[in-house]
Formats: sequence, C-alpha cells, structure tokens
Amino acid sequence: MEEIYLDYAATTPLDPRVAEKMFPYFSEVFGNPNSPHGWGRRAVSAVDDARDQIASLLGAASKEIYFTSGGTESDNWAIRGAAHALAKKGKHVVVGATEHHAVLAAAQSLEKEGFSVSLAETDDYGTVTEDRLAAAMRKDTVLVGVMTANNEVGTLQPLSQLSKTARDSGALFFTDAVQAAGILPLNVNDPAVDLLSLSSHKFYGPKGVGVLYVRSGVGIDGLIVGGRQERGLRGGTLNVPAIVGMAEALRLAYEEITTRRAHLTSLRDRFIGKVLQEIPGALLNGHPKDRLPGNANFIFEGILGEELLIALDLAGVAASGGAACSSGSLEPSHVLLAMGRTEAQARGGVRFSFGKDTTAEQADRAVQILKSCVERLRLSR
Ligand code: PLP
Repeated sequence: MEEIYLDYAATTPLDPRVAEKMFPYFSEVFGNPNSPHGWGRRAVSAVDDARDQIASLLGAASKEIYFTSGGTESDNWAIRGAAHALAKKGKHVVVGATEHHAVLAAAQSLEKEGFSVSLAETDDYGTVTEDRLAAAMRKDTVLVGVMTANNEVGTLQPLSQLSKTARDSGALFFTDAVQAAGILPLNVNDPAVDLLSLSSHKFYGPKGVGVLYVRSGVGIDGLIVGGRQERGLRGGTLNVPAIVGMAEALRLAYEEITTRRAHLTSLRDRFIGKVLQEIPGALLNGHPKDRLPGNANFIFEGILGEELLIALDLAGVAASGGAACSSGSLEPSHVLLAMGRTEAQARGGVRFSFGKDTTAEQADRAVQILKSCVERLRLSR
C-alpha cells in the first residue's frame, strides 16, 4: 500500500537542494559565529549571507531579522517581548480568536502579569473583519496580533485593513505568517507590519529554526537571556546549518512561488470539489475562496475527527485534526468553535494539506479512501 502524505501544513520534507547547501556547515565550516578566528568568521559570514537573503526576500533590512528556534519561539517572543517593552504605555493586547496556541498561550501568560487580553472574534469563515478588530481594541491597546493564514482551516485574513486599523490607533501590528510563508509572496511593507514570524520547516527547510522580523525603531524585550547573540536580544549559539538551509528554502520558495501556488490551488479545488460532490454530509470549514492554496478542511456529519483520522491512517492516508500539537487530544478545535460550529462539530474537523510534490492522482485516490472510511464509520454506528 502506497502511503499518501496530506499533512504538509504540519511539516514538509527537507528539499534535497536545501540539504546540499547545509551539508558543509555541519563539519567543514563548523565554527561558532561568535569566535574571534577564521572558523568563527566563516560561520558568521554564512549567517550574514542568510540574513541578507531572507531580509531582501521579505522587503526588510538585514538588521530587522532575528533568528529563533522556530514559529513557537518567534510567536512567544513577539507577544511577550513587545508587550513588556510597551508596558508603560498601556497593558492591553488583542489577538485573533483563531490564532495558533503559540500566540494564544503567550497572550494568556501576560494576564498573570497584569495585562488584559481581548480576543478579536471571527465570522463563520474564520475571518477577523476590520469592525470586529476595532470592537476588541481599547485606548490602551499596545499590540494587535492576527495571523496571515490560519493553520487549521486556511482562512486568509484581510491583513491590510487589520494592520491599518491597529497601527492608525497607535498599536503595533504582529502577524504569525508561519503557514503563509513560502506559499504567498510575503512582504513586510505591503501590508506594513511591525512584527512577523516564520518557521523554516513549513517551507521545505530544516526543523527547529525560524525568524522574527522586528521593524526598525520598534522596541522589543529579549525572551532568552544569555550571550550577546542577535544584538543582545536572543542568547544562544546560532544553528548555522539550519539558518543557511532556511535561507535557501525561502529563496527557492520565492523563485518557484507562481508554479507552486498554481499547483496547490488546482489540487485543493479538485479535492474540495470531489469531496463535496461524492461524500454526503461533508461540510467545508473556512473561507471558500480566501484560503491557503494547499488547505482543505471538512466536517463529516456524525463522525468524530479522531476516529476518521485513525481510519485514514490505517488506510494509508496521513491527514490531521488541525493543529498538530493538539492532535491526540479530544479537545474541540478552538478555531471551529470561534467560527460558530457546535462542540460536536468542533470535534469533527479533518484537515488535508497538499505539498508541491503531491500529485492529482494521489489527491483523487485520497478522496476514494476518504469516501470509503466515512461510509464504513457511518455503517458501524
Ligand atoms: N504558528 C502557526 C500558524 C503554525 O501553524 C505553527 C506550527 O504548526 C506554529 C506557529 C509553530 O511553529 P513551530 O512548529 O516552528 O514551532
């Protein structure tokens, strides 16, 4: 049985071209970028090149790029670091109701420190509209965080309007762009954002490395104390091979963005069309059009997400119940609840996410397997 991987939103494989670029930095150019000798200088030069490349792809300046251990750290740092730096100005933070737990938990942690946090509600498609954001904001709001694209249902947020609403009233605007990076052509000036997070393993780079973009002039407290790395804001010896790999992965993604996007969009639309046509009681979650090119998320009436995922896994199809970190638990999805689904429905969400190497034949076969799993589970009731 050939397995079909449809969980690219959880993680992607390392592109062999990226692996090749990284290889010399494991053993040949192994120096510590902080060391005062040739080995150190060669390592720091690779890190500088990677920083310049990532900055130029994102329309940023090199000094605005900070390397982190991935999306979770970047999200935590953006929320906690910016809130701490702004605490004298105001202690109110707004985040979208459907944010990733890396953002929600970071915001919640601020509540123990005297901040108050409001959630910007979404409509039934998972969109945070301008008026919903405005309704959540207060005079003392210092930071607003709304993701570029949702990791469960793929809904794309109207970032230009949201960023304008936040920034016009004097708050910083942060976006978690982890799911969008490598698929959409991100640029930190269009729409203008103050903080933005990326994670390399979502765009065919290595795991355990990411970026926090911090607009020049925006003050942010450090999260990890220790050495003087990353302009004294993030201690820890840099993971040079991973940073080199992430820069190459992002470069390739931008170079191939048009073909990757067209391919993912056509797979997604083909898959969604067939599922809705062939499987009775299938409901699409998220926005019908303004959604990530590679995302399809459904509820199948009367079926629990967990049981369907197990059946699919046994039949060789790898899908997900939403956020990878919360799969394995029977908690209803906070994303589906925020979109107005019932508790029972919010336990039923199943996400299929496609990658640059997924074929139409695999997508079609997955629909047939999905259809027979759904039929079997319904019969066994
Ligand atoms: N933010 C979003 C939207 C994500 O989808 C993820 C990963 O699933 C993260 C943050 C966390 O990223 P990382 O796995 O690099 O910690």
